[in-house]
Amino acid sequence: MVEIDLLVIGGGSGGVRCARIAASLGAKVTLIEEKEMGGTCVNLGCVPKKLLVMAGHVPALLEDARGFGWDTQVAPVDWSRLMANKNEEIERLNRIYERMLERAGVTIVRGRATVVDAHTIAVNGQQLQAKHLLIATGSRPQDLPIPGSQHAISSDQAFHLERRPERVVMIGGGYIATEFAGIFHGFGAHVTQLYRGELFLQGFDADCRQALAAEMRASGIDLRFEANVAAIAQGDDGYSVMLTDGTALPCDLVMAATGRVPNTQGLGLTEAGVRLSERGAVVVDERFQSSVSSIHALGDVIDTPQLTPVALAQGTRLAHRLFGDGSTPMDYDRIPTAIFSTPALSTVGLTEEAARARYKSIDIYESRFTPMHHHLTGRETKTYMKLVVDRLTDRVLGCHMVGEHAPEIIQGLAVALECAATKTQFDATLGIHPTAAEEFVTMRTAR
Ligand code: NDP
Repeated sequence: MVEIDLLVIGGGSGGVRCARIAASLGAKVTLIEEKEMGGTCVNLGCVPKKLLVMAGHVPALLEDARGFGWDTQVAPVDWSRLMANKNEEIERLNRIYERMLERAGVTIVRGRATVVDAHTIAVNGQQLQAKHLLIATGSRPQDLPIPGSQHAISSDQAFHLERRPERVVMIGGGYIATEFAGIFHGFGAHVTQLYRGELFLQGFDADCRQALAAEMRASGIDLRFEANVAAIAQGDDGYSVMLTDGTALPCDLVMAATGRVPNTQGLGLTEAGVRLSERGAVVVDERFQSSVSSIHALGDVIDTPQLTPVALAQGTRLAHRLFGDGSTPMDYDRIPTAIFSTPALSTVGLTEEAARARYKSIDIYESRFTPMHHHLTGRETKTYMKLVVDRLTDRVLGCHMVGEHAPEIIQGLAVALECAATKTQFDATLGIHPTAAEEFVTMRTAR
């Protein structure tokens, strides 16, 4: 038996961060991972997704070059070269993650772990004991409960397609479906995105959702709302996605992105006394402690926003709580986030709807304009920006943007919101001219 301070199951963003910080604080840490290091974010999420988003933007950039005097020919993408380059980059990151852990003094064990009891884990026929266990096993795509769902790929497979698809039907109206609709469209596919409700991207600011829908439709994506999928059938020439209203959509790729479920099955958690929620998430308190006091959990496997920076922050906090001098609680109210759609939607703070529900009176400032370089390219596209302000305190409650570079701009504004900036302070800030970002400090008249 080995005596360990912290045994981490899962080498994704949250697990690696917690292991690394804990080791740097002097704890004896072992991390168990059965696949490549880096988890969903590095291998089947944020990183390869962003690379594909950037790759998909290239044809439009080449087209736009004409407006600036360059005549270019857009040849079809060399799909296998793109995939090989993307894979090489992911492997580079896998190695960096591993080296980072090794340098911090974390012992890495390869294999599938199961929890035996409050302090014991079984892996590769061996038992390891530790003062603390951390479940950081992440999430996986949720299955679509309809006939023929086996014909739909998830984002896991979308990163390893052998060829560029021509006709895609995308099911879902969340982050992944919207991002991949833009990716496949960028590569020249005909994309139909189906969302079951009135307006996709629930939880985001309604004006931004409308603005993004308008942009996506204008770019040629067939974005349909109140479209419910009844079944998927395979035919001689690909697939047919049948809607409940009788419409049949022929395509050669069906992708479903209807949420991600926590990876808790087969881990021995309930047998060890760890309480799980109805959807299988580990139930934890605000300190990431489960119903078994020595077993902790964080990241996608618990019921908090499934975002890499959230898992990282949770990992840091847990390590400091267990092995440092305590930690501040997580604040889930001001999580900056972005959908890397085309164009991107990015946001920090309260939506207009949430602010109206919480505050007595709010002011809305907004701006809609054609980005400067499209005055030359002639591309019909608008950027949309919104500030939500509490009239009583003058505090800026939310910043929202749909448009090129939105995530880069919102990241900076997230600092301002963290500092409780007021609208007066936004107004006192000088702009950088000419930029899109300066609009955020030059909106003077409330709607
Ligand atoms: P989301 O929760 O973002 O969206 C799920 C979508 O699927 C919603 O539109 C939902 O509709 C719809 N849906 C759910 N069940 C069904 C069903 N049975 N039939 C039809 N539609 C259904 O999940 P994603 O899978 O897109 O992404 C998972 C998580 O990963 C995200 O929530 C996000 O936290 C994270 N992520 C973050 C990214 C980023 O930071 N850029 C990128 C990608 C993922 P409804 O709204 O009506 O429930």
